[in-house]
Amino acid sequence: MNYDVIIVGAGVAGLYAAQYLPRDKKVLIINKRETFKCNSFYAQGGVALAVDDDDIESHVKDTLDAGAGLCDEEAVRTLSESSRSTIDDLIRSGFEFDSDKDGNLLYTKEAAHSRERILHAGGDATGRHMHHFLLSKNPHPMLGDTRVVDLLIKDGECYGVTVLDHRESRNIYADNVIIASGGVGSLYEYHTNAPCISADLQGLCVLKGIELENMEMMQFHPTVYVNSENAQKLLLTEALRGEGATVVDENGKRFLFDYDERGELASRDIVSKAIYDYSKKTGLKAYIDFNNFEYHYFMQRFPNIFKNLQDLGFDVPEQRVPISPAFHYAIGGIRTDLNGRVPHVKGLYAIGEVASTKVHGANRLASNSLLEGLVFARRAAEDILKHSENKEPIEFEILDEIMSEKDDKAKKNLLRKIMWENVSIVRTKNGLNDAFNQINALLNEKIGKLLKFRLLTAREIVLAALAREESIGVHFIKKDSND
Ligand SMILES: Cc1cc2nc3c(=O)[nH]c(=O)nc-3n(C[C@H](O)[C@H](O)[C@H](O)COP(=O)(O)OP(=O)(O)OC[C@H]3O[C@@H](n4cnc5c(N)ncnc54)[C@H](O)[C@@H]3O)c2cc1C
Repeated sequence: MNYDVIIVGAGVAGLYAAQYLPRDKKVLIINKRETFKCNSFYAQGGVALAVDDDDIESHVKDTLDAGAGLCDEEAVRTLSESSRSTIDDLIRSGFEFDSDKDGNLLYTKEAAHSRERILHAGGDATGRHMHHFLLSKNPHPMLGDTRVVDLLIKDGECYGVTVLDHRESRNIYADNVIIASGGVGSLYEYHTNAPCISADLQGLCVLKGIELENMEMMQFHPTVYVNSENAQKLLLTEALRGEGATVVDENGKRFLFDYDERGELASRDIVSKAIYDYSKKTGLKAYIDFNNFEYHYFMQRFPNIFKNLQDLGFDVPEQRVPISPAFHYAIGGIRTDLNGRVPHVKGLYAIGEVASTKVHGANRLASNSLLEGLVFARRAAEDILKHSENKEPIEFEILDEIMSEKDDKAKKNLLRKIMWENVSIVRTKNGLNDAFNQINALLNEKIGKLLKFRLLTAREIVLAALAREESIGVHFIKKDSND
């Protein structure tokens, strides 16, 4: 069967694109694991928007300021100018953001936003509610537990994908392919992402000669509870700091003011770096303190965080919780234009976290990513409908490739350590070179294709970090002691 559109990924971006492709189109959504296993499901704080026309300039300015000069202003304007109508469409189709008893939407503020403009749902479960809602509206078939392992590209055109379906490889053909496969969390030892978010499609793009850009721009979240066993760690949303939580050391000192006059409300890269630096310099642990919250308000406003922390044995909001930064969000990704098109490959699109539209520049403003996923998903779907044409089908051979080797798991874990130690919050040229050599050595070993995806993506991050010699935004490079 030849599809009109294949969508790789069932997070917010993939599902929202699906909603704009009519039922009479043959669309297939492919999804690596169970549908809830995606970053969208875990989004807590909310979705940012320009509240009204008067707020557009300010939302654009906040986004550009966070991006530290590396945003594409046209992309940022597209994002901001479409934000109100995108959110209104979602509300009109039945999605419920949190509102007061008179039905007024409740806007909150997060770090580096100059006003309250974040909408949330289910308190701190915005992503879960939105993902569930979009799934309930999804008009198209979905193939779960199936992993895309190749893109069928010939002479600058994309004809479909190869999937690994219960260990069997097979080709699925389509006139258009939308990549909505999310970020790179599993490359890092500590991260907040869903475990299956492991940079497959970014690695595949490297293999196919498709450009990734801004890959050095990897964002770390400052307030994560990392003392648990799993690689995926519990994120404590920025909305907590936006609404009064403080960051303190073991002695109760609010040390963030030593680094930035905005203290807890500085952008997340500044807060991450400050916590990292302060803990290293003083040997003191960092904590998030909820003392400013009244018990019932905390429980109702942040019900999931409340429950998760209580389950872990913390008597919140009374008791403070130890925190550390952890990898959170891939700003860089597959280069696209403003309609999600991947340059030089006809019929190939990328949207959501996997894409680089350059709306985030050197640093993503909090809660702009769900918005980016929604806005650019719709634009990609509309672009496909506008330029829809049936391709002459071509048969592609199914390659007999080894997906995993026996030792790949241990090598994956080694890669996570290499990335955390050398390519995370504070980087040095020596550390990056060391990472580059170790990754290359792993690439030269006998490894499966799935590990190769991770290693190739990791190498792109290292190469981009080495190429940018000055610190900017989330990319912080410290002079080596022997420089
Ligand atoms: C803990 C947490 C909290 C967050 N909070 C916020 C927030 O408050 N506000 C905000 O704006 N952003 C937030 N973010 C970021 C935001 O959630 C993500 O950037 C966004 O949801 C990404 O959506 P997506 O659709 O691009 O990807 P995802 O939701 O990650 O979906 C990716 C999909 O691709 C599939 N996939 C991956 N590889 C393959 C493959 N090889 N084959 C087939 N399918 C594949 C996965 O199975 C999944 O279905 C948060 C992120 C996390 C992790």
